[in-house]
Amino acid sequence: MTDQEDNAVFTTTTVDWTEKDVGKRIEKRVTPNGTYFNEIVVQISCQICGSGFIGPAREAGGFIGGHECYHAWEFSRAMDAEAGMKE
Ligand SMILES: [Zn+2]
Repeated sequence: MTDQEDNAVFTTTTVDWTEKDVGKRIEKRVTPNGTYFNEIVVQISCQICGSGFIGPAREAGGFIGGHECYHAWEFSRAMDAEAGMKE
């Protein structure tokens, strides 16, 4: 990637996105599930465990949903243990 491309609104990165790509758009991203256009690259982290993610907004949604689901499971296990339902 050149300095000129660094200033562009679009990123040419297709995998392994970094902080340099955050806020830029991916012109076209082909996946087995469909083709995504003009998708923005975002950086987020999980508020519960602090795990981080940089990538397309669509995948960020999966990251958030996956962590919400996982941590809900963790909490329900902890509550079951507290209620004496431990094996
Ligand atoms: Zn998490």
